[in-house]
Amino acid sequence: MNSNKIAVITGASRGIGAETAKLFARNGYAVCINYLSNEQAAENIKSEILKDGGRCITVKADVSVASEVIHLFETVDQELGCLSVLVNNAAILKNQCRLEEISEERFDLVLKTNVMSCFLCCKEAVKRMSTKYNGAGGTIVNVSSGAARSGSPNEYIDYAASKGAVDTLTRGLSLEVAAEGIRVNGVRPGFIYTDMHASGGEPNRVDRLKSKIPMQRGGQPTEVAEAIYWLASDSSSYATGTFY
Ligand code: NAP
Repeated sequence: MNSNKIAVITGASRGIGAETAKLFARNGYAVCINYLSNEQAAENIKSEILKDGGRCITVKADVSVASEVIHLFETVDQELGCLSVLVNNAAILKNQCRLEEISEERFDLVLKTNVMSCFLCCKEAVKRMSTKYNGAGGTIVNVSSGAARSGSPNEYIDYAASKGAVDTLTRGLSLEVAAEGIRVNGVRPGFIYTDMHASGGEPNRVDRLKSKIPMQRGGQPTEVAEAIYWLASDSSSYATGTFY
């Protein structure tokens, strides 16, 4: 068990990632807020955390690119210390359409952003956390989606397929490193109020679909953050390779 409290949250400038970063900070973690392009949004989250007495840095890095991921983790090593938690949260989706309208370029970008990022960040985290490399252990939480199981027909099969790959990576890695002090779990959110739906061309998607949800409402990013935090914390110490 790693007693350090240092967390990297990818894609934490807004939405679920931002709420997760704030929750970890409130629980005593030094937090690294990673983002792709929206520096102002990332700095605003950092300011909120610092104002509440937390410890936090921001690192701009495209987590689908190996050299940028290495820069991200080396910055954390130098500025915060020994990593104990990785949350792979960054992801994109594109306009709703049928499969035959999805270009190869788009399919490539979605898979690279959503899956390669998770693979590259897990790789750096395992090198730091695994007892095999004299690490102190740690936890990894991969943010998947209900789309991994629904397949998202007529919306974004590319996105759904990327999340299916994230689930398989989560399962495989959890078994590979289970005896090395690292737990790896996944969260599959449903319909959550964030800006991501605007990227799909329908900002009010959650409201359109909420009557189909048993609770008759969409979820808040804070509610997903709680699940991510629980899976990363010692409260879930006997859970690995699971999905919530
Ligand atoms: P969001 O509001 O669209 O935020 C996406 C975040 O990812 C932003 O901080 C963005 O940074 C960052 N990002 C995108 N590409 C990146 C890259 N290549 N490198 C680094 N950062 C990158 O998303 P969200 O709705 O909070 O979703 C968070 C996670 O939950 C995702 O994995 C998503 O698939 C999953 N999820 C969401 C829902 C939902 O209903 N919202 C449902 C199921 C699953 P910039 O701001 O700098 O661009």
